[in-house]
Amino acid sequence: MKITAVEPILLKGQQTYQSSASGAEATDNGDWQLLVRVQTDEGLSGWSDVETLATVAVPIIKGPGMSVLGFKCLSELLVGEDPLDVERLWETLYIGSAYYGRRGVVMHCISAIDNCLWSIRAQAANLPLCQLLGGRRRERVTAYASTLFRETPKATAEAARVYVDKGFSAVKFGWGVFGEDAGLDLEILAAAREALGPDRHLLVDPGWYPAGWKNPRAWRPRSLAQNIALVQRLAPFKVGWCEDFIHPERFDEYAMVRKESPVPIAAGEQVATAWEFERFISPTDETRRCVDVIQPDLSRCGGLSVALQVARMAERANIELVPHSWLTDLLTAYSLHLIATLPRAPFVEFNVSQSELTRGVCGGQLKLEPGGTVAIPTGSGAGVTVDEEFVRKHQVA
Ligand SMILES: [Mg+2]
Repeated sequence: MKITAVEPILLKGQQTYQSSASGAEATDNGDWQLLVRVQTDEGLSGWSDVETLATVAVPIIKGPGMSVLGFKCLSELLVGEDPLDVERLWETLYIGSAYYGRRGVVMHCISAIDNCLWSIRAQAANLPLCQLLGGRRRERVTAYASTLFRETPKATAEAARVYVDKGFSAVKFGWGVFGEDAGLDLEILAAAREALGPDRHLLVDPGWYPAGWKNPRAWRPRSLAQNIALVQRLAPFKVGWCEDFIHPERFDEYAMVRKESPVPIAAGEQVATAWEFERFISPTDETRRCVDVIQPDLSRCGGLSVALQVARMAERANIELVPHSWLTDLLTAYSLHLIATLPRAPFVEFNVSQSELTRGVCGGQLKLEPGGTVAIPTGSGAGVTVDEEFVRKHQVA
C-alpha cells in the first residue's frame, strides 16, 4: 500500500471561544478547525483533527518545502511511503522537519498524521483500533463533562445541575475567571460541589496563565507558594484532581507542589514527545515525578505512537492516564481506543462545549449513555466517520 495524499483541510466557523456569564454552555474553538486526511492507493483513508494554529499548519503539511534536510513539508516526506510503517514514518517526519519543528505546530501536525496512519493500519487489518493497539479491556468508560468555569457561583451551580440532569457522574470546570480572585474561587467551588452532591467527581483546571486567558499581556505567574496554597484550597471540596496550573516547562515546580498537595495533580496536555513525557512522569524516580494523572493530548503529543509509549511509562510509575481530548469526536474516538487498552481507566474527557464547527465534523456520533459512560467505538479503524458534506460546506481554500 502507498500513501497518495496528505491533505490539510481548513474549516471556518462563525463562533468564538468563550465562557458564559450565565449557566449557558461555553464554546470551544468555533472559528477555525484543521483536519488532516491521509489517502492511499488502496482506497483506505485516515482522518484526524488537530488542535493548533490552523492557518499556519496548512503550509507545514502541504507547502513548498526546502531542499535542505530538516526543512521539508510533511506531505512530501510521506507520499509514496507505506502507511503501515507507522512508527518509522513518525521518525521520518520528525527528522525531516527537525530544523524548524520538533515541538509546537509541527508536532501537532505530526500527531494528526500519526493518528491517521494508525487508523489506516487498523482498517487494513479490519480491526477496531484498540485491538491493534493492544486489546480491548473494557466496552465503555466513565465520561466527565469538560467545560469552562462560569463567571459566578450561581451560574456555575446552574451549569453543574445541567450535567447532573444529563447523567454525568463527573464534571471538570476549567479556566475562565478561576484564579483571578481567591475568594471568588472558593465560592465557585463551593457552589459546584453543592450542585454536584457529595459523590460525583469534581475536577478543576485552573489553567497556567491566570488573568491571561483573555489577554496574554495581563499574565502574572503564580509563585511556588501561591501554587501550593492553591492546591490546599481545593482539598475541602473533594476535588478529584487539579490540572495543568503550572508553567509546563517548570518540571521541578510540579514535583515540589505535588509533594505538598492534598489533591492529585494532573497535567500533560502541553507535553510532547516521549523524551519530555519521560521527564514529566519520571517512572523510576518518584521524587522527581510531576503528576498523579498524566494527560497526553493525542492531537498534540506526537499522536498515538507517542501516547502508547506514555501508557507504558504510566504503567511503570503506576499512575493514571486520562487523555486530554477537548476537540471533535475524532480526537475523543482516538482517545477512547487508547483508553480501551489501559489497565485502569478512570475517565474519558467528553467535550460538552463543542461549537457548531467542532460538533459538525462527526455530527455528534459519540453519545453519553446510561451510567454516565461512553462506549468504545467498535467499527474498523477509529470507528467514527467524518460528515464529508459538512466538511465541504465549511472548507476554505
Ligand atoms: Mg486542561
